[in-house]
Amino acid sequence: MPRYFTHVNELDVQKVRELYDGFDAPIARLDCGKKCAPYNPSGKPFCCDICHAVPAAYQSEWAYLQPNTNLWHEWRGDECGSAQEVDTLKAETPESMILLACLGPDRCQRDFRALSCRQFPFFPYVTADYRFVGMAYEWEFESKCWVISNLSQVSVRYREEFIRTYDELFALFQDEFDSYAVHSEEMRAHFIEQKRRIPILHRNGGVYLLSPASERMVRVEAGKLPKFEPYK
Ligand code: SF4
Ligand code: SF4
Repeated sequence: MPRYFTHVNELDVQKVRELYDGFDAPIARLDCGKKCAPYNPSGKPFCCDICHAVPAAYQSEWAYLQPNTNLWHEWRGDECGSAQEVDTLKAETPESMILLACLGPDRCQRDFRALSCRQFPFFPYVTADYRFVGMAYEWEFESKCWVISNLSQVSVRYREEFIRTYDELFALFQDEFDSYAVHSEEMRAHFIEQKRRIPILHRNGGVYLLSPASERMVRVEAGKLPKFEPYK
């Protein structure tokens, strides 16, 4: 079972709130949860369904969230109805982070979404020569997340806020940058194996297909990017 998270280092509570306020734009004009939920047997948007993804947050986010909202609790592993791989997932989670579960999409409190909710399904893509060039998506969710099949729908404002947020975090924390460099490398390996190119929502506002071996980028029309079942 995948987990998705951001790896933010120590931040004071005021800074956490500032980051949340600066990264608040909806991902698209329409409610993408309505697009993907019908394909999930639980009827929930995939990224808000603990059976599909366990969100994690940095401990400093938790320090802010805990006294301010009842939205979250520490993930127990029984929220999905059957025991999940608690030990494995917890063992893989850095000490600086905590796995969380929320009240669910019917009772979401948008103001208190974690950074991992705000960034999903994207992560900052870092090239092999250590440049943060834009946004790539969590490839394990290709068959679940509607946004991944509809990258042209991602709003300009959302993209700008995403890039600004990570520029700020990377300026503060080198290990943030390093961890996404590793994640990007994993994506390149996966796409090399599959002989596919990686779609990139570039920080310059364009959309590109990146060859994972050479990292050569070709600008493309977002509407022509691959779509995945069941969204073809
Ligand atoms: S981001 Fe993807 S998985 Fe989450 S609600 Fe939107 S379409 Fe569904
Ligand atoms: S806090 Fe809201 S956006 Fe985040 S996982 Fe829960 S329901 Fe989804």
